[in-house]
Amino acid sequence: MSIAFRLDATDGPARAGLLTTPHGAVPMPAFMPVATQASVKALSPQEVRQVGATIVLANTYHLYLRPGVERVAQAGGLHRFMRWDGPLLTDSGGFQAYSLGGLRSITGEGVLFKSYLDGSEHLFTPEAVIAYQEALGADIIMPLDQCAPYGEGHAELEAAVERTYGWAVRSQGARRRADQALFGIVQGGTSERLRREAAQAITSLDFPGYAIGGLSVGESKEDTYRMAELTAVQLPADRPRYLMGVGSPEDLVACVARGIDLFDCALPTRVARNGALFTPQGRVNITNARFREMDVPFQEGCDCYTCQGFSAAYLHHLFKAQELLAYRLATIHNLRFVLRLMEEMRRVILEGRFEAYARAFLSTYRSADQEVRVEQRRRWRPKQARQVEQTGLQE
Ligand SMILES: [Zn+2]
Repeated sequence: MSIAFRLDATDGPARAGLLTTPHGAVPMPAFMPVATQASVKALSPQEVRQVGATIVLANTYHLYLRPGVERVAQAGGLHRFMRWDGPLLTDSGGFQAYSLGGLRSITGEGVLFKSYLDGSEHLFTPEAVIAYQEALGADIIMPLDQCAPYGEGHAELEAAVERTYGWAVRSQGARRRADQALFGIVQGGTSERLRREAAQAITSLDFPGYAIGGLSVGESKEDTYRMAELTAVQLPADRPRYLMGVGSPEDLVACVARGIDLFDCALPTRVARNGALFTPQGRVNITNARFREMDVPFQEGCDCYTCQGFSAAYLHHLFKAQELLAYRLATIHNLRFVLRLMEEMRRVILEGRFEAYARAFLSTYRSADQEVRVEQRRRWRPKQARQVEQTGLQE
């Protein structure tokens, strides 16, 4: 058995479903915290559970480079190595090979890149990436795809779509394990025609789930939403739909409203470590002076461990003093905020009142959009890519 998907209810395009994996069930819509290096930064697996996560994502690129997929396999597989016994997804590593500044070339064979750790050269082929993910042993694995950078011309986008299709076929043929689910990935940039063609081609290969890739890489929010919507309607209703790399609160609501079931994004945990915490009104920074004497929880009514036990003033103090607990408490709050949002959306879809809920949330939540998009664009320019190792704060 690999996975099974059951659609429980729809409310307009919004869907509530249940994904069953060999390591447990994932009520949907769902958000996956990102465990880049086999760890959700600052949290123990127990805390990841406690904030309400049902599935996490780990990065093949990082684990391939360090400690090595064979090392993880020898340690009993990724679930055991990182002590996460729940559902687990690994990405193909392609996105990091493209975006972390070490890209050498993309050919029909695969992706040639330099390690950000020591500059050594590596080739990711579709077959190799499947073998690495089979060694890691996640419940859901992803094929190598070509995600064209934002701003590429139509011919380049079209070539990326064709290559992604060819690699998807090769990925299917390379599989040896039957207990993992391989998803298909739909690329196509912001071209409506390419998205439709890519969706038709990839769904013809009959994957147990589908991902929408190449969005939230610098395009406008309107384009992200438009592409997610028009791609989602091309996908079979009886398979889970995963929008890769999207996870700000307003994007989660807007994209569930467009028929997406599954998300991952490093943003909630990354901004938490910078002191930016989610509230129903938008993101605010806990280091702001107005929190210095606020001897009440950061967010009244929040059911997270941080807000239940600590004051905003204490959290403010921890950040000012650069105490390690600051990163942990802030990460707990942001993840709980996002995961509670997913739980609430599932409930209101089941109750048939999603539209009113989404409208109310989006009318209150002020987007920190611009800042985020500038950051994403910066990350996409290889020459300007920052050294991940230097900051230790990046996913
Ligand atoms: Zn909280």
